[in-house]
Amino acid sequence: MRIPLERSGATPLYAQIEGFVRRAIGAGTLAANTRIPSARRLAGDLGISRMTVETAYARLEADGLLRRETGSGTFVMRQRPGGDPASAPAPAAWPRWQRDLASRALDWHRAPVAAAPVGAVAQIDFAAGGGDPRRFPLADLRSELRAVLQRDGRQALHYGDARGYEPLRRSVAELLSVHGLQAAADEVLITSGSQQGIALVAQLLLRPGDTVLVERPTYAAALDLFRALGVRIVDVPLDHQGMQVELLEPLLTRWQPKLIYTVPTFQNPSGSCMGSAQRRALVALAARHDVAVLEDDFVGDLRYEGNAQPPLKALDRSGNVIYVSTFSKMLTPGLRVGFVHAGGPVLELLAGLKRLTDLATSNLLQRALHRHVSIGRYEAHLRRSRRLYLRRRDAMARAVECCFPPGSSFALPAGGLFLWVGLPDGCSSSALLPLAIRAGISFAPGSEFFLDAPAGDRFLRLNFAAFTPEEIDCGIRELGRVMVAASRA
Ligand code: PMP
Repeated sequence: MRIPLERSGATPLYAQIEGFVRRAIGAGTLAANTRIPSARRLAGDLGISRMTVETAYARLEADGLLRRETGSGTFVMRQRPGGDPASAPAPAAWPRWQRDLASRALDWHRAPVAAAPVGAVAQIDFAAGGGDPRRFPLADLRSELRAVLQRDGRQALHYGDARGYEPLRRSVAELLSVHGLQAAADEVLITSGSQQGIALVAQLLLRPGDTVLVERPTYAAALDLFRALGVRIVDVPLDHQGMQVELLEPLLTRWQPKLIYTVPTFQNPSGSCMGSAQRRALVALAARHDVAVLEDDFVGDLRYEGNAQPPLKALDRSGNVIYVSTFSKMLTPGLRVGFVHAGGPVLELLAGLKRLTDLATSNLLQRALHRHVSIGRYEAHLRRSRRLYLRRRDAMARAVECCFPPGSSFALPAGGLFLWVGLPDGCSSSALLPLAIRAGISFAPGSEFFLDAPAGDRFLRLNFAAFTPEEIDCGIRELGRVMVAASRA
C-alpha cells in the first residue's frame, strides 16, 4: 500500500495510516475480505516502525473494520453501511479547471435526450447500434485466442506494429478485393474500431474553424466528434438515394470544406443507399474541388436486395477518398478492430497519428481475428447474416405498419441494421422515450442524428438486426401502444 504520509505533520503517523485505511474501507475501494499487507510488510514499505502500523491496525480492529487471523493475515471486514465517505473532494472543492470544465456547455457532451425513469431498464433495446451479439461464435474466439498464445507466446503480447498486424492487414486487403476494392496490405491501417479511423482522419485533416460537410441526418458519434474538434459543420440533406449530391457544388464553393464525411451505403440512421450516378458525381466533385472524402462503410456488405453499389473508394482515381470500415457489425464491437484503406501520404500520417494515440490496436486480438477471418468463413457468415437480418427487417416493417399510429412512415432499407421511422405530426421522439423505457422498450431518438437537434425530433431509429422476429413483434407492439396512449394524453 502506497500510503502518502506527512512525516513532519501534526497528525501522528499511526493516525494517518488509520485514517487512510478507514476512508478506503468506507469508500468501498478496499472491499470486504481483501487481504491487506501485514504490519511488518507495511512498516518496511513505508520506512516506519512496526509498532506504528500495529497501533493503527489495532484501532481499526477494535472498530470492527479489520480482522486478524493468525497464520493467514489481516483482512478487511464487511463494509458497514454509512461508512466514511470517499476521500474525493466535494464538488465545490474540485480544482478550478475541473469546475470550469463542468460548467462549460460542451456541445458534443450530450446529456441523455430523455432521462430514463429511475430503476427502469429497457428489456428490448432497439437503440442498439450493431448486429445480434448472440450470433458471435464465442467458442471459436476462445479456441483462437488459445491457439494464438500457444503459437506466438509472448510475441502476441507485445505492442506490435502501429499500422496493424501484417497478416491481418493482408486478410483485410483480400476481403476488400473480393468486395470490389483493389487494396494492398500496405494501404490498410488497422484501427481500434472504425470510430478511431474517423477520429484520426478528422484530427489529421481538420483544424478549428475548418468546415466539414456531413449528411443530414448522420451518424451521431461522428457529429459529436466534429463538434468536439471545434470545426464548422455544414449538413447536406439526403433522400432515399443518399446525400443529395446535386446540392453539393455551391456548398463546396461557399465553404471550401476540408472534408466530406459520408455513409453512402445503408446509412446510419436513415438506411438510405447512394445511387451509382450520385456516387460518381460525388467522387468527380471531390476531385474537381480538391477535397477529401471520408467514406464510412460500416455495413456495406449487409445488403438484402437490389444491386450492389461500388464503394466510393472503388470509383476514386485521384486519391481523394479515405475508406473506413469495421469488424464491429459483422462480428462484434468488443473486439475493437476496424480499418482504414487509403493511398498516398495520408496513410503514413494516419499511421503516425494512430501511434501517438494508442501505440497500436491490441496485438493479441488482431492475431485471434486474423485466424478467424478467412475469406470463406467471412463470406459464409455474411450469407447467414443477410438471410437472418432480412427476415428481421421484414418482421419489423410488418410490425411497424400494423402497430404504429397512422401517419408514421418509413422507407424499407435494402440493407444495414436500421429502420428510420418518421412519426405522425405532433409526435416527439424525445418525449416518447422515457415512456417507452418505462414499458421496457428503447430506441434512438432522431434528434441525436441532426446538427439541429429539434429538426430530428419527429424521427426515431429502430435496430431490427439484433432481435428475433418474436422479440420485434412484442417490442414494436408495445411501443405502438405507448405511442397511441401518448397521443391521447
Ligand atoms: N460508423 C457508423 C456509421 C457507426 O454506426 C458506427 C458504430 N455505431 C461506427 C462507425 C463505429 O463503429 P466501431 O468503432 O465499432 O467500428
